[in-house]
Amino acid sequence: MTSSQPCKQEDGVRVRFAPSPTGYLHIGGARTALYNWLWARKNHGVFILRIEDTDAKRSTAESVTEILDGLKWLGLDWDQGPFFQSANLPEHVRAAEKLLESGNAYRCFCSKEDLDAQRQDAEAKKIPFQYDRRCRRLSEKEIQEKLRRGDPYVIRFAVTEDPACTVAFEDAVYGRIEKKCRDIEDFVIVRSDGRPLYILSNAVDDALDRITHVIRGADGLANTPKQVLLYKALGMSPPIFAHMPLTLDNKKAKLSKRRHGEVVTLAYYRERGFLPWALCNFMALLGWSTTDDREFFTREELISEFDLSRINRANSIFNYVPDDPKNWTDPKAIHFNATYIRTMPLEELLPYVKQELQEQGLWKDSYDNEEEELFRKTVDLIRARYHTLKDFSTRGRCYFSDDFRIEDDAVRKNLAKAPELRELLPELAGGLDALEDFDQESTEAVFRTFAEEKGIKPGLIINAARAAVSGTTVGPGLFEMLEVLGKEKVVRRLTRAAELVPRAADK
Ligand code: GLU
Repeated sequence: MTSSQPCKQEDGVRVRFAPSPTGYLHIGGARTALYNWLWARKNHGVFILRIEDTDAKRSTAESVTEILDGLKWLGLDWDQGPFFQSANLPEHVRAAEKLLESGNAYRCFCSKEDLDAQRQDAEAKKIPFQYDRRCRRLSEKEIQEKLRRGDPYVIRFAVTEDPACTVAFEDAVYGRIEKKCRDIEDFVIVRSDGRPLYILSNAVDDALDRITHVIRGADGLANTPKQVLLYKALGMSPPIFAHMPLTLDNKKAKLSKRRHGEVVTLAYYRERGFLPWALCNFMALLGWSTTDDREFFTREELISEFDLSRINRANSIFNYVPDDPKNWTDPKAIHFNATYIRTMPLEELLPYVKQELQEQGLWKDSYDNEEEELFRKTVDLIRARYHTLKDFSTRGRCYFSDDFRIEDDAVRKNLAKAPELRELLPELAGGLDALEDFDQESTEAVFRTFAEEKGIKPGLIINAARAAVSGTTVGPGLFEMLEVLGKEKVVRRLTRAAELVPRAADK
């Protein structure tokens, strides 16, 4: 790029997703990533991925992989990174030194015992504990002496003692937030072992990455006034903050794997057959809405509609009911996935179905060649009733393999009741086998004529055939089903199912 070209990305919006790689990628974390990505894409800005791995004990490589895989699966592509916060530690230390030099921070030599005594004192007086700032008053001589002795110290930020001071910022979601400086203690920014605290590292990295908007969970709100003080003391202007409401369960508890299990992890949705965009669309609505409460958005639509000002302040509810036999996750999420499966352009669905069938050993290369049209027709026929991609390999197994079970219920209701089916089914199969064009109309005609000739109700053979070819009592229209299954399979299955009908004498 030459310098005469406008450098939009450098001038515009820069956001980041900054997960700590200390566990699984949570549905709430994924939503944070999504909102940042949407804001970046809407503004033709830059989406940065920063892994906040400074807690070396709790950070793991598996967690980093899970985060990267999860974002890739969702299609939330980042423009820069992944950056690792730990690589920036020298910068964080330098910032702390700068604060020491400018008098905005000081060394605190108080021992744990000193602080415990102060805390107990506050408890006895029933006042909130705040470090009493005694080390802020040490003379230069005293400090040098302690340093010479090698006394351990932490570095604390020196909050202004002006009683009239308030720190304020305009949150894009929560509006103006003010906090009295006297309610903020001189917080620690560097530990006694020299490691900077997260509150410092996070703000310094946002400044280094020239982040314009910090979009994060409302649990970050408590830290923000302190971070605003840090920015100002470092001579930097704070970014715009947009805190997002938390996502809670229907009993208003925070979502966690410990409490709710796998259902709060992103990986689970992938395993259970979610379409990534269906999940993104669902997550987008956990805490954000349009003025007309529209629910379904394509990527482009969501990018264009999304706005920070429409993020709700109220916590959003993830309606998960443990042990609900009908819904393994929020029914709305399932409804979104099912709607996408049913209505999305077929071309976009086919690769997902292919992958599912491949993983389950049900894929045939012919579906990419001579049976391509048949594959498309089959998927189009069966998708209307499916909720997840898994359904294609489970409920839809009979369309891709002869090796499927006929449900007991289907045998009982549709086959075993009428012993005459033992003779009728092979005869019906013979009639179908004689067809040249095997399609909906021709097969239906065979069934109707056959029923008339035999003086039986068409329903008897229609239901029996349904059980025989698909193993179940429900599904698409029988004749549509027969057409996509094809003559060979239908004839074979009808003949095979006759064996399941008890002889009249056996009854
Ligand atoms: N590493 C922090 C977290 O995972 C990020 C907070 C922020 O976005 O500033 O909670």
